[in-house]
Amino acid sequence: MQNQSRRSFFKTAALSAVGAAALTSGAAEAAGKKAAKKAEGGRYDMIIVGAGCGGLVCAVRAAQIGLKPILLEKMGDSAGNTIYAAGFMLGTNTKMQKAAGISGDSADKFYDDMIKVSKGHGDPALTRYFVDNCDKTLEWMSDYCGVKFKAGMKLVFPMLTRAHLVVGPTQPGGSQLALYLQAKAKSLGVPMLFNTKVVKLLQNSKGMIDGVKVKTKTGYSEIHSRAGVILATGGYSANQAMVTMYAGSAAAKMPIRGSRIIAGENIVLTQPFMPKIVNVDQYHCGPIHGPTGANPLNIVNKGICVSKEKTERFTDEGQTYVQMSRDTAAKTKDNWAFMIVDDDVHNLKVLANDWNSYARNRAPVYKADTIEDLAKQAGLDPKKLAKIVKDYNAANDNNTRGKLVPPNTLPKAYPVKKAPFYAVPFQGGMTATFGGPLVNTNAQVLDTENQPIPGLFAIGNAAGGLFYDDYVGGAQLTNAAVYGYHVADYIKAQLKK
Ligand SMILES: Cc1cc2nc3c(=O)[nH]c(=O)nc-3n(C[C@H](O)[C@H](O)[C@H](O)COP(=O)(O)OP(=O)(O)OC[C@H]3O[C@@H](n4cnc5c(N)ncnc54)[C@H](O)[C@@H]3O)c2cc1C
Repeated sequence: MQNQSRRSFFKTAALSAVGAAALTSGAAEAAGKKAAKKAEGGRYDMIIVGAGCGGLVCAVRAAQIGLKPILLEKMGDSAGNTIYAAGFMLGTNTKMQKAAGISGDSADKFYDDMIKVSKGHGDPALTRYFVDNCDKTLEWMSDYCGVKFKAGMKLVFPMLTRAHLVVGPTQPGGSQLALYLQAKAKSLGVPMLFNTKVVKLLQNSKGMIDGVKVKTKTGYSEIHSRAGVILATGGYSANQAMVTMYAGSAAAKMPIRGSRIIAGENIVLTQPFMPKIVNVDQYHCGPIHGPTGANPLNIVNKGICVSKEKTERFTDEGQTYVQMSRDTAAKTKDNWAFMIVDDDVHNLKVLANDWNSYARNRAPVYKADTIEDLAKQAGLDPKKLAKIVKDYNAANDNNTRGKLVPPNTLPKAYPVKKAPFYAVPFQGGMTATFGGPLVNTNAQVLDTENQPIPGLFAIGNAAGGLFYDDYVGGAQLTNAAVYGYHVADYIKAQLKK
């Protein structure tokens, strides 16, 4: 269902692109030229690059407060990680939470969790501004933009009821979010130019970034603005050369869990102006069956993890799914492993979505009445697997899992005893990159001397500083929205001066 809908989102985008291409020599070309000409001559307050959560929130807020934004998107529709996101966003005391009877959380607790999850590397000022403004932003998205949220779910760490899931007819929630925001931007008359790729940032004689050079189906042109350019282009998760260079060859082996066109424009476009680029070796990853997109998110902490190549345990199943995914990419040949579970685990309610994901995506799950037969089916070594399962069960019975090599540190581990047994193949998959030009709390890009580069802003995954190592589930979309909203207000205040 989820992937079908993602596909239909793309189909719509692809159809409009195909439609446009079919008309290249005629009306579309003339219309394209006219739109580009109009944009070239238009007087915009700000140019927003990228139609993901960050760019769209920024465009809507700017139009609401009387600015004249223009939004440029390189693809035929929103095409970044936003449309792949499950759609969880975070708040601590929103009216949606209150309506669901939830209380007891605070921005201070959220701050502590953000710093803990970033292993103390999250920029304190960016984190503070972020946690203090989530509630306001989510309530505005609900009230003004018409985004429908289901509030009060718990996500993995810290298991507090901060999650607001974007709901509506389209799955996943991130695709629905893009649709809500695009509809609002359209109703406000925001010019949104699709198939318009920013290839260069333009700097005026005073050193201000005041425009962009764009490539469209009809050629190249320039667009200028009064207050500058907001990069909402996402990170570089789909740029294999950049991932290899910055995050290493293990990360580069990972299949991509989200958008295939997020190519690192946050770094490439800003580099001529010498921004302070931070945290480029940092990224988020998770388990995936790469060839099909099936997701064993909860299965990976519920059984024994063995490598495909050597039939060996190589990771602690008590770690986060992020770290297990990193280990799978780094410690196994070709980034392939299996989770081995028994029938009791198979029937756990919490795993229903995972099994559905494998079934829906026609990803293989091997099943047999003995461990040896299971190994044969999955292409594993039967003797080795039988010994691993025996040792693991004994350690579980004796409370000595911590002494296994590598240890298994799960607070509660499930035995692998009751037939039938299952082997679930998976890989570590790339979700998103965390690195980019460092910004201050006004989303201004800083240079290597920590001074704002005039007129240059970055938000969402295009900006560096907030995230490191891992993220509190739901915080990435929320970050894009919080700073997308704020940068519009900041620019409005600057233009008044
Ligand atoms: C499978 C998956 C699930 C996730 N689930 C969640 C979740 O539930 N909650 C959460 O908080 N986060 C989640 N995330 C992360 C979240 O999706 C991202 O952090 C968020 O969408 C980033 O939004 P953005 O606006 O910064 O960029 P994006 O959504 O990536 O948008 C960038 C846009 O910029 C455009 N663009 C790029 N370069 C140019 C250019 N040169 N010219 C013009 N346009 C350009 C792209 O085409 C794209 O449309 C998930 C990610 C994945 C992959």
